[in-house]
Amino acid sequence: MPLFDFKCSDCENDFEALTSTARIDDVECPKCGSKHVSRKISTFAVGRGGSSKSASSCETGTCPYVSPCANGMCNLN
Ligand SMILES: [Zn+2]
Repeated sequence: MPLFDFKCSDCENDFEALTSTARIDDVECPKCGSKHVSRKISTFAVGRGGSSKSASSCETGTCPYVSPCANGMCNLN
């Protein structure tokens, strides 16, 4: 299963979880146990350093830097 980045809406905790897309509703924040988590658009192997900025530009389809594009639209992929 792919590794996704999540962010907890209740305590702002960022964490990663292995899950299938069908089971996102079952993901709990490991810090506070809340299920109010949102999945961040991310690729599987992108490191934490500056990855959020790269991932968001990738969402727009411009994706000038990230090779494993999150939405598969990257020309450089
Ligand atoms: Zn939390």
